Amino acid sequence: MDIYKALKKYFGYDSFKKGQEELINSMLDGKDVLGIMPTGGGKSLCYQLPAMMLEGVTLVISPLIALMKDQVDTLNEMGIEATYINSSIKEEEAVQRARDIRNNKYKIIYVAPERLNAIAFKGLTQDITISLVAIDEAHCISQWGHDFRPSYTEIPRFIQSLKARPTVAAFTATATTEVIEEIKRLLALQNPITSVTGFDRPNLFYRVVKASNKFAYLLDYLNKQGEGVVGIIYCSTRKTVESLVKQLKDKGIEAIGYHGGMTPEARQKNQDTFIFNRTRIIVATNAFGMGIDKPDVRFVLHYNMPQNMEAYYQEAGRAGRDGEDSQCIMMYSPSDVVKQKLILQNEYMSIEREKLLYKNLQYLIDYCHTNDCLRGRILTYFGERIENRNCGKCSNCLEAGETIDITVEAQKILSCIYRAKERFGAAVITQILKGSKSKKIMELGLDKLSTYGIMKEYNTDVIREITMTLASKGYIHVTTDKFPVLKLTDQCRKVLKGEEKVYHKKDLVENKAVVDEGKT
Ligand code: ADP
Ligand code: ZN
Repeated sequence: MDIYKALKKYFGYDSFKKGQEELINSMLDGKDVLGIMPTGGGKSLCYQLPAMMLEGVTLVISPLIALMKDQVDTLNEMGIEATYINSSIKEEEAVQRARDIRNNKYKIIYVAPERLNAIAFKGLTQDITISLVAIDEAHCISQWGHDFRPSYTEIPRFIQSLKARPTVAAFTATATTEVIEEIKRLLALQNPITSVTGFDRPNLFYRVVKASNKFAYLLDYLNKQGEGVVGIIYCSTRKTVESLVKQLKDKGIEAIGYHGGMTPEARQKNQDTFIFNRTRIIVATNAFGMGIDKPDVRFVLHYNMPQNMEAYYQEAGRAGRDGEDSQCIMMYSPSDVVKQKLILQNEYMSIEREKLLYKNLQYLIDYCHTNDCLRGRILTYFGERIENRNCGKCSNCLEAGETIDITVEAQKILSCIYRAKERFGAAVITQILKGSKSKKIMELGLDKLSTYGIMKEYNTDVIREITMTLASKGYIHVTTDKFPVLKLTDQCRKVLKGEEKVYHKKDLVENKAVVDEGKT
């Protein structure tokens, strides 16, 4: 049968979502695949359709025991023979299911990873023909991912134990290169066809805001929203959530809070209040949002920068599920970076993991300093190829604004990094340029450098903004350590020699007195 006919027959759809067709055809040809799609991108169909077209049985390995029953029920309703095996079913029922499986009653069997190497299950799988093994949430095998599950490491051994090697298909919504490489390696995928698709959400507008007074910006923003416009404000700490709710109330704006420090009852109550439109605005930490499907959220505003692009995109992606135009706003301030670094420093972890987390954090900092299309930066992060360099729907594409030549400032900063022998982070470099008399500077004798004080008249935030912009443009490399150090890249030579000019948005580097939110 033709895959379009099968799509219509079994699922009632006329067309594929992005990426599905390529993955399905590969699986039908017996090739391993790795499908990277965002939540809601249509991963299930990628293995369910081949399951119906291939001889034998498709085994779906999924960690989400709670969802298995729903998925199987849905399939059964569509007339597809499917079942599941996990710890939630009773012995008797399990025996009956095993019998039915041996009698080839099912096309699709969902199984929890913990079950794979149980003797009974192994015996069972020897008696049937498994043509496809689909692994959902495949990033659970990666130690670098945010969801490591030891039982996933059993999967390769299980696959090897089968009579004939089935086609192996892995799926995830996680897309850092490290995690992807680990999935391929640890699952022993054979030349997998890798497809990254569907991360773009065309109805979302992206904006990065650097406000001298965050709260004033927020107030103004909220006041400009029409009556009844619903939104989420994310903050990095419980304390900020609480103080922001109070500040908003004082200004007559109805808002409720949500964070992990509240009682489960209080959380549930506030969540319901928001879901059922009894309040417009919820102020929350990242504890809020998992599994919440409120379609009409018109904006998601990050009052503090989160820890990485994955977290940002997931949270921002809670806007506009109904497909209507919605806004994703990130408010950046240098103090957020400090906060995130403190959070990282308080965690115990291996050096490799630490490096990875700093690298991921740096990507988000770069996002906040780029002059390129913000949507482009996001999609590049998720490995998606982008054709159009100007999306017309982000603050960088739409409001390019006036740019000015910052080559001289760039040269001063780069020279300072060079003179200081590439040993320090942004904070020390800024102090040298400012001509600070701090203990550290004096003790290290950094006041003797020729670049000491050469940007005395510049505001600290402006120096920092330009430094981070140079990193975002690739002139500076920020090392991925606990105490990140600024290094020069080959690319910066042209700037130092005056062969290449650097530009940046005028309003961001204007040397006005900037009040840092953390100090007010
Ligand atoms: P994921 O597992 O990637 O989060 P799902 O597999 O649950 O996503 O699919 C999300 C939604 O998209 C489901 O409601 C599903 O029925 C629907 N869907 C999947 N493929 C198609 C398609 N080709 N056409 C229309 N809807 C689809
Ligand atoms: Zn854009």
